[in-house]
Amino acid sequence: MTIQHIASVGTYLPPWGTDAARVVGRDEDVVTLAVAAGLGALAGVDLAEVRKVVLVSRDLPLLEGGNSAPLLAGLGLPANLLVREAIGGGPAALSELGDADAGTLVIGADLAPAGAAAAYVGATGASVRTVDRINRSMPITVRDGHGNTSEYADPRLLRVRGINASIDRLDLSQPIIAAAGVSAKDAASFCEGTPPALPTTGASAPLFGIAALVEGNRHGRLLAVEQGAAVLSEFSVGTAAVVRDERAAAPLPKGTPAPGAGINIALPSYDRNFDAKTRLEAAKCRSCGVLIYPHRFRCPQCGSEGPCDIVALPREAQIYSMSTIRGQVPGLVSPYSLVIAELGDSGVRLLVGTTGALAGSMKIGDTGRLVFRLVATRSGVPDYGYGFLPALTAALDTEVSA
Ligand SMILES: [Zn+2]
Repeated sequence: MTIQHIASVGTYLPPWGTDAARVVGRDEDVVTLAVAAGLGALAGVDLAEVRKVVLVSRDLPLLEGGNSAPLLAGLGLPANLLVREAIGGGPAALSELGDADAGTLVIGADLAPAGAAAAYVGATGASVRTVDRINRSMPITVRDGHGNTSEYADPRLLRVRGINASIDRLDLSQPIIAAAGVSAKDAASFCEGTPPALPTTGASAPLFGIAALVEGNRHGRLLAVEQGAAVLSEFSVGTAAVVRDERAAAPLPKGTPAPGAGINIALPSYDRNFDAKTRLEAAKCRSCGVLIYPHRFRCPQCGSEGPCDIVALPREAQIYSMSTIRGQVPGLVSPYSLVIAELGDSGVRLLVGTTGALAGSMKIGDTGRLVFRLVATRSGVPDYGYGFLPALTAALDTEVSA
């Protein structure tokens, strides 16, 4: 089995829930979690070098297809890049990483506990090599045709016949120093030294483990288990960047969902507006240099109908104007805030919702950044766009009227 080099790692935890278990906000799903972690891993990477994205999760929003386009858009990667969506947990994510070529971004994302982590495989960096793999069947969680899951709730069976039986079959010639997919207590029972505490147990868990090993300058064997499957990898320290996007956790704000059906989706309109909503990219007029967002056939400043260049818009933003809506809007949870956000020094202003903060807790002039979010779900279709995330976490603690 080959050795892969991890150049950088990105992690993301949604700001809601408790330190023990994060929960997703109403505007997040596996695609938005994956984008947040992936952007961290790609922070110092030349995007032209990225050749492939692998997303591993058991919570993909659209099992019939449609997740790759918003994933690439949110990551700012070209729409023609190869994306592989893999249904799996920790062992699958660790296997994908051990098998990835340079230029591959491997992301694991989970809804419960919520979190995502990503590793970018480059030419140099920390290294990871798969040393052993166990594929046994211990399906304690099953899903019916309607997507409803049921648990075969016997933790002792899972531990004894599932995890411990898998570990017994592994090559244990070298000690394990980190374990993903088990409780901290179980990890401590068979790891050497103090294993890193991981915030998730699914596909993202081994990648959180790698982030912790890089930061702790530790090397050794990393285990990922799930039901009856296990993967063991050899991890060696090297120069790898770790970017964590992990704010303190706060209880998810209570909101009142308005009665009545939401607005139905119109797929022709969804398709027409997809790129403008999901890609923070403007057209730059070659005649007068003005930034045009969303793209138009004719330049609104000089009237040129000539070609434009596509440029990325800044994500840093400042609140230019805002309003908090407390009335009931069918399909939406109130109260919620809307802001007109000014993007860096681009002169572009965007009307967006707010995220990661209580409605009405921000004021004009506050700074923050635009983040990729689920802006609505219409007729079951996730509709992605951007939300304003204030820079100040203090906004979570106080609710003031706007
Ligand atoms: Zn122009």
